[in-house]
Amino acid sequence: MASVVSAPRDALNVAAIRQDFPILRQRVHGKPLVYLDNAATTQKPQAVIDALQRYYSEENANVHRGVHSLSGRATDAYDAAREDVRRFINAADAREIVFVRGTTEGINLVAQTWGRARVGAGDEIVLTEMEHHSNIVPWQILCEEKGARLRVAPITDAGELRLDELERLLNARTRLVAVAHVSNVLGTVNPVAEIVRLARARGIPVLVDGAQAVAHMPVDVQALGCDFYAFSGHKVLGPTGIGVLYGRRELLEAMPVYQGGGGQIGSVTFDRTTYAPLPYKYEAGTPNIAGVIGLAAAIDYVTGVGLDRIAAYERDLCAYATSALADVPGLRLTGTARDRASVLSFVLGDVHPHDIGTILDREGVAIRAGHHCCQPLMRRLGVPATARASLALYNTRQEIDTLVAALQRVGEVFE
Ligand SMILES: *Cc1c(COP(=O)(O)O)cnc(C)c1O
Repeated sequence: MASVVSAPRDALNVAAIRQDFPILRQRVHGKPLVYLDNAATTQKPQAVIDALQRYYSEENANVHRGVHSLSGRATDAYDAAREDVRRFINAADAREIVFVRGTTEGINLVAQTWGRARVGAGDEIVLTEMEHHSNIVPWQILCEEKGARLRVAPITDAGELRLDELERLLNARTRLVAVAHVSNVLGTVNPVAEIVRLARARGIPVLVDGAQAVAHMPVDVQALGCDFYAFSGHKVLGPTGIGVLYGRRELLEAMPVYQGGGGQIGSVTFDRTTYAPLPYKYEAGTPNIAGVIGLAAAIDYVTGVGLDRIAAYERDLCAYATSALADVPGLRLTGTARDRASVLSFVLGDVHPHDIGTILDREGVAIRAGHHCCQPLMRRLGVPATARASLALYNTRQEIDTLVAALQRVGEVFE
C-alpha cells in the first residue's frame, strides 16, 4: 500500500507484528479475519502462547511453598512478573501490585475492603456517566450496604467528561472518585491527572479503571497520581483470568483483607490470624501462576514494540477510521471527544446494531454490538445499543477499508 512510502523510521512494522499473532491468519466464512473487537478482548502473540506452554510443560509447580527446584523456578517467574508489572505502570514498589482476576475483581476488592472500612451512611462516591458496569455495580453494592450514595458526573454530547460538573460534586462527604481512564464505548481519554488534582486538593482518593488504556498508551500511575489503578491481562494481549490492582502502599497497608486462605497469612490459630505482608495479604489461595507468567510475556511484548509507538500508530489509525466511517451514508459516530483512543462506536440509520454485527461477520469482520456493559451510558446517548469497532496495534488501514465497504453494503441492504 502507498503508506509504506511515507512511513517514518520509527513507525510500527505492522506486517511483522501481524505475523506474531497466529489467530489473525484465520479465515471466517471464507474471508480473511478482520478482528475489530479488541475492546472486548485482544488476540495473543505467539510469545504469550509459548510462555503458557513452556510454563505448563517445564515449570509447573505451586509458588511460595516448595523447597524443591520446580517450585523455586515457578516462584522466581512469578515474582519476576510482579516486577515487570511494576515497571510497566511505573509503580513505586512491587508490593503495590496485587494480582487479581481482572479489572472487575480489582474494583470489587477495593469496594469490599477499603470501601467497607471507609464508607459510611450519608457518604458519597463520585463516578461518571461513561463507566463500565464493573465500575458502577461494586459501588452500588457498597452504597446499599452502607447507606451511602452514588453521584454521577455528566458528559457532553461529544462524550467528554464535564470536569466542572465533576468538581461541583466533590464535597466533604465524598469518599472516592472512580473513573475510567479510557471509555470502552466512546474511546474518550479522561483527564485523569486533572481529576486526581481536583480530588487530592480535597483529600479524596481516586480509583482508575484502566482496562481500556494499558494496551494503547503508556501509563504511569505515579505521574497520574491516582490511588488505585485496575486493569485486565486479556485486554493487553495477555491471558484471561489475570489482572492487576495497583494501590498506593499506605492505602493497601491500612485496608482490611479481601479473601482469607492459604498463602495470605502470617500465622493462624483457631483464635486469631495474622496476615502476610503486601501484596500477599490480598492474594489468598493458589494464584493464577500461568496467567501471571502469560501477562508478563504480554507486557514484555508491548513494551518491546513500545507503548509510545503503539499509541501513535493507533491514533493515526483511529483518525483514518473516523474519517472513513464518516463517508458511510447514515452512519453516526457516538463519541467524538477530542482526546480519543482506539474505540469507534456508531449507529447506522435504523439498522439494529446486532444486524450490523451479523452482516459484518459474514464478511469476516468481527465487531461488537450491544450496550457494551454501559447501560447508563446508552441511556445518556439515547440509543439502546451501538455497533463498536475497536482497534489494536495489529489492525491496518486495509482492514478499516474492509469494514467501511461492508458497512456501505449494510446501508444499501436496509435502505
Ligand atoms: C473490559 C472492561 C472492564 C471489565 O474488565 P474484565 O476483564 O471483564 O474484568 C471494565 N472497564 C472497562 C472500561 C472495560 O473495558
